[in-house]
Amino acid sequence: MKVYIGIGSNLSDRHGNCLRAVELLQEGAIVVTARSGMHQTAAWGDMSQPDFINMCVEVETDLSPTELLNALKAIETHMGRTPTRRWGPRVIDLDILLYGGLVVQEEGLTIPHPHMHQRGFVLLPLQEIAPGVVHPILNKSIEELAAGVSETGI
Ligand code: ADP
Ligand code: MG
Repeated sequence: MKVYIGIGSNLSDRHGNCLRAVELLQEGAIVVTARSGMHQTAAWGDMSQPDFINMCVEVETDLSPTELLNALKAIETHMGRTPTRRWGPRVIDLDILLYGGLVVQEEGLTIPHPHMHQRGFVLLPLQEIAPGVVHPILNKSIEELAAGVSETGI
């Protein structure tokens, strides 16, 4: 299945953290097939923290959505992410944005990621690697969604 993952960091070596996460993804049952550039944006939700570096990757994987979420959480933990306040600073954040055309609404897992269509820091990097991919609920392409946002958000 073709999957898009959002990667973000706003602590310590933010670019290095994002690249490390891409490396760690490839060590599992995940093949990274495309990656966006890195975008710097002011923190969303809580402005009193360092800017984020965000990027998106396209991956190919046979993992189920739940298995993939667990793999992403394992990488977050391995990289030293500790529970913090909502929207607080984090060394690494890995989100499943799109999993093929699948819609998942379970306890602890929502796909497409519930805020992706509002967030410039997701849509602008995603647009670089998936402009024509269609959001399965909104039925709009990433390019169309990205045209409606600025880098900083809604
Ligand atoms: P956010 O990424 O929204 O800033 P967190 O990274 O703290 O928030 O994620 C909190 C929880 O969101 C995770 O423990 C996970 O179970 C849940 N979650 C729901 N949908 C997704 C998704 N599509 N990708 C990643 N996590 C998700
Ligand atoms: Mg997250």
